[in-house]
Amino acid sequence: MRARLAAFLTFLLLAGCGALPAETPLEPTATPRATTSQDPDGTDTPEEFARDIKSAQQVAEEYWAQVFEQQGQRFQPVREVFPYEREGEVSCGRDPLPRNNAAYCSAGDFIAYDVNWAFGVFRQIGDAFIYYLLGHEYAHGIQQRLGIQKEFTIQQELQADCMAGAFIGDSARGRALTLDSGDTDELASGLESVGDDPGQPWFAEGSHGTADQRINAFANGYQDSLKVCDL
Ligand SMILES: [Zn+2]
Repeated sequence: MRARLAAFLTFLLLAGCGALPAETPLEPTATPRATTSQDPDGTDTPEEFARDIKSAQQVAEEYWAQVFEQQGQRFQPVREVFPYEREGEVSCGRDPLPRNNAAYCSAGDFIAYDVNWAFGVFRQIGDAFIYYLLGHEYAHGIQQRLGIQKEFTIQQELQADCMAGAFIGDSARGRALTLDSGDTDELASGLESVGDDPGQPWFAEGSHGTADQRINAFANGYQDSLKVCDL
């Protein structure tokens, strides 16, 4: 994961505020297909994407199972993680999930993601994005399990960023993931680029604001683990 993390950071640092998924999504009816890779290491194929989704889910579940076990609690994984392609194809309660985003739905206890959007960003950034995406959404599932309902969305989101940071940082320290320790600051700087408004869907196209808060939350979790996430 190390090499592609560098690409992830470089992209985010260059991308600037709110520019993350500028060229995505692909057409909503298009299924990601194997193309002749422009990436010499061949890591941007739908197969690699699917593997990374599975891997990120697996690492997240192992991580949270361990955390719960340490507290003497039984961990129940999120029921399902699955892709969608069209707006309204998946609903959470009565709310149709929009394109160009991902969500944890507490009503159905699932994580769903716009596969064309996620695959596009994956191709632009690399596999670290997938770990970040799954880490953040999985954190919402954990909040649900712990009965955490903050007064404001921003609090819920910042806590999820902190938890995603703890997940990636702890997993790196525990060698479930391979990262350079010196990447912390770079990762933090990179994440600054994807800050958004509290009322915006996570990673909504063109959204920005509260970047400092998000970056601090993620970096705190990354460096100091869950004890600073106010769980
Ligand atoms: Zn969120």
